[in-house]
Amino acid sequence: MHTILCPLCGSDSRTVLVRGSDLLHGVPGDFSVTRCSCGLVYINPQPDNDELQLYYPDHYLAHKELHGMTRFQRHRALKEFVLRWYYDYPLGGQLPPRWQRRLLRPLLWLLSLGTLKSAIPYHGAGGLLDVGCGNGGWLRGMQECGWTVQGVEIDENAARTANAAGVPTFCGTLPAARFPDQSFDVVRLHYVFEHLINPAEILTEIRRILKPDGVCYIRVPNIASCTYRWFKQYWYPLDVPRHVFHYTPDTFTRLARQNGLAVQRVRYYSPPSGFFVSLEFMRREGALPAWLRPVNGERAFWRNLWRPLGWLIDRAGQGDIVEFTLVSNAAR
Ligand SMILES: [Zn+2]
Repeated sequence: MHTILCPLCGSDSRTVLVRGSDLLHGVPGDFSVTRCSCGLVYINPQPDNDELQLYYPDHYLAHKELHGMTRFQRHRALKEFVLRWYYDYPLGGQLPPRWQRRLLRPLLWLLSLGTLKSAIPYHGAGGLLDVGCGNGGWLRGMQECGWTVQGVEIDENAARTANAAGVPTFCGTLPAARFPDQSFDVVRLHYVFEHLINPAEILTEIRRILKPDGVCYIRVPNIASCTYRWFKQYWYPLDVPRHVFHYTPDTFTRLARQNGLAVQRVRYYSPPSGFFVSLEFMRREGALPAWLRPVNGERAFWRNLWRPLGWLIDRAGQGDIVEFTLVSNAAR
């Protein structure tokens, strides 16, 4: 472990926001999550690279993979319909007339929520890079939609599976892949950026490999969410010690700007898991208030009750998860 200076403002003045232990995989120890005077939140002291390896149990990625592989295959015809009509993918020839697509837009939006929230709009027959692609399940789906795909994955087993499935995947870190300048139309990091101990370096690298009109999607937990304020050390996405940095829309936007990228759009997501897993952590640690004890996230009734509330929280800009759409500073 070693203490670091804030990568956003260079300061070493910070206060402990919360102390937490690993409630998910039981890595021993207590970890201090600190907040810098500029607002950036991070574990400090930070683990070294070797220590980081120990925080990931062997089944960590394997678990994620299985999910990703099967996701695109379910309800495939419906998904292709949404891709074609809502995300402008020219599947099977020409797109439907524009006026028809506009007319159906509200319905298509609802359909996209239920089936393909993680899809990205079509950008021509472009290059798509997924950093932290796991076994490449999502990329394989996008490949079938016409993208030229590339993965980066630090886990050897997952990278091997991806390559075997026909998804070219570099095993290692993003800078180590040494992609040429302006290689990609789209770069995506889903639930990866909060794990990275060198966020500024990674943003600079994304800026370098992104085409001038390219976009980057980064999805991370939102430490400014109301669920964090409710749950604190029991908040599911806190995930110490694996989540080394925590962002808010404000701190992320400033960090991106410092490293050559501009935030074009901010979207929030509050899946039921954020609330209910946090609740289970509280229950397990004996910290659940009596009036919340009957609430059980295993049951569809409670999860369905959560959905409209989550939707309202997202509209209010307080969601659990935040996705940033980034473009090159120069493109603005
Ligand atoms: Zn700072």
